[in-house]
Amino acid sequence: MKSGFLDKLIERLDRVGPGEVQNLLHKLLRRKGFFEQVFEALEEGVIICDPQGMVTFLNRAACGFFGLDHETSPGRRLEDVIRGLQWTLLTKRREVVSRDMEVYYPEHRWLNFYFRPIDDASGGDPVGYVMLIRDITQTRRMTEEQMESERVNALIVLAAGVAHEIGNPLNSLNIHLQLLEKKLKKADRAVYDKVSAQIDIARGEIQRLDFIIEQFLGAMRPVPPVFELTDINQVMESAVTFLAPELKDRRIRTRLDLHGGLPLLRIDAAQMKQALYNLIKNASQAMGTGGTLSLRSELTDSDVVISVEDSGKGMSPEVVANMHQTWFTTKKTGTGLGMMVVRRIVRSHGGELSIESAEGRGTTVRIALPRTAKAARFLESGDAPPRPPEQNEVIDV
Ligand code: ADP
Ligand code: MG
Repeated sequence: MKSGFLDKLIERLDRVGPGEVQNLLHKLLRRKGFFEQVFEALEEGVIICDPQGMVTFLNRAACGFFGLDHETSPGRRLEDVIRGLQWTLLTKRREVVSRDMEVYYPEHRWLNFYFRPIDDASGGDPVGYVMLIRDITQTRRMTEEQMESERVNALIVLAAGVAHEIGNPLNSLNIHLQLLEKKLKKADRAVYDKVSAQIDIARGEIQRLDFIIEQFLGAMRPVPPVFELTDINQVMESAVTFLAPELKDRRIRTRLDLHGGLPLLRIDAAQMKQALYNLIKNASQAMGTGGTLSLRSELTDSDVVISVEDSGKGMSPEVVANMHQTWFTTKKTGTGLGMMVVRRIVRSHGGELSIESAEGRGTTVRIALPRTAKAARFLESGDAPPRPPEQNEVIDV
């Protein structure tokens, strides 16, 4: 109802008959009821105060935000019903005030309120004040999470950059050690024999650093897999060959039990080799010296399953529960990145990773690569031509 209408009505009140006044009053009350209903339905809190700061109306949402009673709150001072608000500060400048506030009761929430005077039509003192309150807990949480992830991303980019930079001098160190070795060999064989062990150690350490950096970069900047038809048995063999010197040093017996009739799989051979490399490395570290490492490939109705089994020290349930976490390690010089990389590679191939471990007896890690084309969604559309019927033996994983 326009206030202009009310003003005119008041002016002419002495000329309006009593019946008509009653009629208009009814109309006004109905309107008031209507607005109250609208206010009650709002998700935003609404509090109306008189010019002295006394609450005259508050809706259900406002009661919910501050844990107030709908019946007893009107008639109390605003600064008494909402702690932390100072009436004089809010009204000092007769301006709109917008502020965020944290409340702990009845629930921990972040609220934003908007407070403004209700101006008098004739330009005098405000006839009251209205406070609108919104719950911003969710948006605030999202912003915080976003900031956190941005911070983490920035850190990763920085760390990856540093790791990358370390790679170059390492390379150069490696080359210079090789040159040194060559020169020594030529110039003085006796001296070379004496120091060759140290040179080997130095090169071994460089390799170790190189490996850590490679793992780190691989973990932080994952490259999308490039799928190609591959004989998984060959990948397993080449991973074992690559680590053969270490296995031999540790006197670990290696058994390869590979299924002869496996279909070719559409996988990223280099990444799968990296995954196997990480698993074999863990297995050999878990065994120390001696023991048996078994690599197996099998064919089930739905999957090609490859497994790496060791007779090492095994894991406690707590270690199993944590082993996939980035940076989780129980080793003095571990990176805690190996399993995280394995898991990511298996996932990007649409496969499944499972681990069985018994403390003191050993661990088996299985990778199941499904026969159905689960990983098709990882393929670029141009990458995956429909399979011709004569290539029935080809299985997309
Ligand atoms: P790292 O090898 O650098 O410690 P990983 O992510 O490769 O990091 O492994 C995490 C942890 O999981 C290891 O520190 C170890 O405690 C446990 N673990 C992984 N594989 C094995 C295994 N085959 N036998 C026993 N423990 C293992
Ligand atoms: Mg490892």
